[in-house]
Amino acid sequence: MDFKLSEEQEMIRSNVREFTLKYLEPVAKEIDQNSRYPVEVFDKLAELDMMGISYPTEYGGGGTEFLTSMIVTEELARSCASTGFLHGYSFGLIGHPILTFGNEEQKKKWMPGLAAGKLVGAFSLTEPGAGTDVSAATSTAVKNGNEYILNGTKTFITNAIIADVFVVFAYNDRSAGVKGMSCFLVPKGSPGLIVGKHFEKMGIRASLTSEVVFKDCAVPADCMLGKEGDGFKIAMSALDVGRIGIAAMSTGIAQACLDESISYSKERVQFNKPIAKQQAIQWFIADMAVDIDAARYFYMNAAWIKDQGKSFSLAASKAKLFCSECAVRHASNAVQIQGGYGYMKGSKVERLYRDAKITEIGEGTSEAQRMIIAGSALR
Ligand SMILES: Cc1cc2nc3c(=O)[nH]c(=O)nc-3n(C[C@H](O)[C@H](O)[C@H](O)COP(=O)(O)OP(=O)(O)OC[C@H]3O[C@@H](n4cnc5c(N)ncnc54)[C@H](O)[C@@H]3O)c2cc1C
Repeated sequence: MDFKLSEEQEMIRSNVREFTLKYLEPVAKEIDQNSRYPVEVFDKLAELDMMGISYPTEYGGGGTEFLTSMIVTEELARSCASTGFLHGYSFGLIGHPILTFGNEEQKKKWMPGLAAGKLVGAFSLTEPGAGTDVSAATSTAVKNGNEYILNGTKTFITNAIIADVFVVFAYNDRSAGVKGMSCFLVPKGSPGLIVGKHFEKMGIRASLTSEVVFKDCAVPADCMLGKEGDGFKIAMSALDVGRIGIAAMSTGIAQACLDESISYSKERVQFNKPIAKQQAIQWFIADMAVDIDAARYFYMNAAWIKDQGKSFSLAASKAKLFCSECAVRHASNAVQIQGGYGYMKGSKVERLYRDAKITEIGEGTSEAQRMIIAGSALR
């Protein structure tokens, strides 16, 4: 067993840290306040080949292990949770399904642009009445000659407003249950694809979230990803990978909580000494340090299993559950350590506290992860 990262992975981690301190940390507060997608940051990440780092070289990627891309996600989230989230989202929910289920033509059409950071995707699964229960979706895809006609409403869709391609799930045959769900790669600008209302959010505010409506949206049959009826399988596979991304993002958030807690507690003086000298504060810090190590092992283990080509679904659920709860717990503790100052708008821990919460909800709630884990344990 070898827990060591490769020299290349260590170098990438330190390069990304350098990058975030220079380009991301200075804008993180502003993009949160203004709910602004930081296009200039993503352009620079693309120049550094970070948007396709683990995609195969034949499609313009960097050809590294998936684990390497997750290290990048963690480091980005340490400075800005939104940016880390969007990085992991792109690998898990967009690149992975196209690479795994796409035909050669689809991979050649979309992957080089995604790998170069020139194209952005929006995973379009959730509906107003179908969140955790994906099977309750009501969107339909009716075959009409050489086309499918999509109808339905998707909600809480990340990137919809800026997306070049939508990974859309709809029933072609409701009577077949989830085996009647299919997946489509719908290009932006398709007639009948309407990006609806924009949501104001508690956290990860630099990621943009909108409703997407399909109104008699005709897409050529060759936009189908996989075969008719593969949609549910594709969605679950993408979410498995996305969950490792959320786990890596959560670890970055928790690390930022520790960074902030150490520097603040050494500076803040009460009762004539820095609060870091108080055992109560030291215990917070010790618990954070231990949990962050465990979180990092959890997400790296899941990514490593994926890199070995083995089944990683359960490991991804465990990693997501542990890491997200770690981020939420320690974001709360980090605010506690900073007292009233931490509670004020504009403090970094206040942002971390708001940003952390999504990790327990998006890409399968904590309850959904517990259902998966218990289901496996009790089998
Ligand atoms: C910021 C943000 C970005 C998002 N981006 C995307 C995106 O890009 N694409 C996309 O498709 N979706 C996206 N989502 C949707 C997200 O995946 C869903 O919000 C999530 O899956 C939960 O669904 P829901 O919100 O409908 O909650 P519900 O499913 O209604 O759940 C409500 C509560 O009930 C619990 N619950 C539900 N069923 C059970 C059960 N059987 N047992 C125990 N508890 C249960 C849940 O855990 C939760 O606590 C996004 C959401 C947010 C907030």
